[in-house]
Amino acid sequence: MRQPATLTCVIPCLNERANLDVLLPALLAVLKPLARKFEIIVVDDGSTDGTPDSMHDWVQRHPRILYLQLSRNFGKEAALTAGLEAARGEVVICMDADLQHPPALIPKMLDRWRAGIEMVYAVRATREDEATFKRWGTRLFYKLMRTSDGLIVPENAGDFRLMDRAVVDALLMLPERNRYMKGLFAWVGFKAEPMAYWPPPRLHGSSCFKPFKLFRFAIDGLTAFTTWPLRMLSLFGILLSLLSFSYGAFIVGRYMLFGDPVQGWVTLMTVVLFFAGVQLISVGVVGEYISRVFDEVKRRPVYLVRQRQGQGMTARTRAA
Ligand code: UDP
Ligand code: MG
Repeated sequence: MRQPATLTCVIPCLNERANLDVLLPALLAVLKPLARKFEIIVVDDGSTDGTPDSMHDWVQRHPRILYLQLSRNFGKEAALTAGLEAARGEVVICMDADLQHPPALIPKMLDRWRAGIEMVYAVRATREDEATFKRWGTRLFYKLMRTSDGLIVPENAGDFRLMDRAVVDALLMLPERNRYMKGLFAWVGFKAEPMAYWPPPRLHGSSCFKPFKLFRFAIDGLTAFTTWPLRMLSLFGILLSLLSFSYGAFIVGRYMLFGDPVQGWVTLMTVVLFFAGVQLISVGVVGEYISRVFDEVKRRPVYLVRQRQGQGMTARTRAA
């Protein structure tokens, strides 16, 4: 059977010390029989809970673990990018540190890779565990994302996925700074296949993605991968201009034919305020896109590494 010679597991984490102490042993046990060489890359996205000390011990005991500490919190997408850039494996797996992505699924994903699938992504079989509001929000978000040209972001797929080296290289070729990974994964294409799983609840701590952060994240995704908000504004503008022109013609006609005095303070105010609102929204939407352009042209690095511990794949101890 086709065994990957080398396998990398990338774990972005922010204050997950307690979870890592449970996840790492479980992951080591799962990975050892799967590949001749493997590495676990823990990307610390600015943790303040003592993760560096705890990881220092882990790296001493298992040199196959590579610890990358970013210089501050850059966000999960940046941490994932850092991990992917450091990954040396022929097969790369991304997963969360909170045990919501069960390591037991990895051998099954690898089976699909052996069957020729280049990207296997885990899809939540249920969202029952989440609040109704969040469920509605995500459903609306995926609907809106679907309108971008030819790009289908699979619904309920998280960042738990297995990728062939070809996919990782393709992802790393994409130069954008706004690394909305769900979109990038979909954009690169390749032979992808979903795999359903039941997400267990978070082991320790609480989710880093509070409603407002999720909303910002959704706007990031939409502005990075769709342009329909801009087109919709133009259409809306054309429609409103036509309407106001007809209404103007109607009033002038009525005055000419019947000599009606022009009146209506209330209508006037309503229309003026309505248009002021529409204009502000339009400027806001255009501003969102311009701010993305601004971020991109600055060309700052996506992340900065403070320190790197362990050797990962190059370690020559305790072979798998
Ligand atoms: N995470 C990160 N940087 C951040 C926020 C989150 O590296 O700024 C990591 C976090 O430690 C976890 C993963 O991303 O391993 C998913 O985060 P979380 O469980 O909070 O998100 P959810 O499961 O609620 O989507
Ligand atoms: Mg989680």
